Amino acid sequence: MAVSDHVDFNGFMEGVKRRNPHQDEFVQAVQEVAEDIFDFIADKEDYHSEQILRRIAEPDRVVSFRVCWEDDKGNIRVQRGWRVQNNNAIGPYKGGIRFHQSVTESVLKFLAFEQTFKNALTGLPMGGGKGGSNFNPKGKSTREIMRFCQSFMTELYRHIGADIDVPAGDIGVGGREIGFMFGQYKRITGEFTGVLTGKGLEWGGSLIRTEATGYGAVYFLANMLATKGMDLGGKTAVISGSGNVATHAAEKIVQLGGKVLTVSDSGGFILDPDGITQEKIDWIKAHKTHRRGRIEEYVEAFPGAAFHAGKTPWHVPCDVALPCATQNELLGDDARALVANGCIAVSEGANMPTDLEGVHVFKKARILYAPGKAANAGGVAVSGLEMSQNSARRSWTESELQQMLRDIMDGIHERCLAYGDQGGGYTDYVKGANIAGFKKVADAMLAFGVV
Ligand code: NDP
Repeated sequence: MAVSDHVDFNGFMEGVKRRNPHQDEFVQAVQEVAEDIFDFIADKEDYHSEQILRRIAEPDRVVSFRVCWEDDKGNIRVQRGWRVQNNNAIGPYKGGIRFHQSVTESVLKFLAFEQTFKNALTGLPMGGGKGGSNFNPKGKSTREIMRFCQSFMTELYRHIGADIDVPAGDIGVGGREIGFMFGQYKRITGEFTGVLTGKGLEWGGSLIRTEATGYGAVYFLANMLATKGMDLGGKTAVISGSGNVATHAAEKIVQLGGKVLTVSDSGGFILDPDGITQEKIDWIKAHKTHRRGRIEEYVEAFPGAAFHAGKTPWHVPCDVALPCATQNELLGDDARALVANGCIAVSEGANMPTDLEGVHVFKKARILYAPGKAANAGGVAVSGLEMSQNSARRSWTESELQQMLRDIMDGIHERCLAYGDQGGGYTDYVKGANIAGFKKVADAMLAFGVV
């Protein structure tokens, strides 16, 4: 078939929408990638005739299961669990587990799809997957969390393995939850293998895994600024979220001489004109442990700050912005406000925090804009290093791992430059990340034939 006979972009997206009804997040993620890939493969016959993009946009499998557990009052509760295994062309499926009431099959399919490109970008041998449940961990006792995690793993264990699929944490899943799930996996199978990452340091975890996503997003930001001869010294930063990614992004910004003005949670954001120092970040980390505290309580501890209920921080003037909470938290109007207020760079700690309209605003304004699949890949990269350490039964030192994380983030930045250079000094990092990630997975798929 001649290239011109192939289905066009609109036809492709119509098909994706038809096959995935009511899965808006998944369709959005595919569209963002397809916009760039269609241009790239226009003259590449193999990718068309082997239907590579269509195949990457159809998960290898989606496992859905019932999760029953008993709350502290003796009530039987029923949740739904999923594992989406999107693509394992370049390594075992790899991606986090999310516990949040907003989790749906569509959300997990979009995350597993994105993860496929992100993992390829790291240069490590990892495929893409994601899992989770619509379980809301807020307000639950530690015993309730434990019973839920055990029940979740009682089904999930059939589908994962150190060389098959290696989940990690994500929203609502930190070290405590990974511990409960790993304990149950080990109890059922009798195996001590690297089947989960984000483990405790005493039982196979890796140093700097906790910090890696937030730190990595700031390293990527610093790399983008460096292409313009700038650094973070004296820059003001607006950050959303107050969980793992947000607090470590804030920490690294402060270490590199920037001033953090905001953090947030689902209740609203706090603006601290004096800057959120390391001492204040430590307070946030302790306060939000196990999702107990609310960010609005920050203003009682630090009266110079103000709380803005029900709002996101994007209208606060800043030099750089780091959305680190959740998907679609930064919309077209927010993007326009950031650009109008002089923001020069956006680095996404969260996955797909900017909606399609916002992405187009950033691209049109030609600011430095790093999509999550590039900027937040530091977390999964150190997870990949945790897998290597588990397989080799050894542990690397903190300084070795810090250097590896730096090298990996530098490598991702280089790959984005290679495929995203638009001339005139402008790099389209979205395009660079999409094409670099796609090419690696696509070439492996071509080698395997039609499977
Ligand atoms: P955490 O659970 O530690 O923190 C999540 C933060 O986001 C909390 O402050 C939470 O507020 C806020 N949040 C969650 N949902 C919403 C919502 N619907 N509206 C507003 N705020 C919300 O998660 P992480 O920090 O681990 O993850 C944050 C983002 O980073 C996610 O997109 C995740 O996929 C991505 N990511 C995480 C990685 C990791 O290593 N942890 C790796 C790569 C990406 P509240 O407390 O009110 O719920």
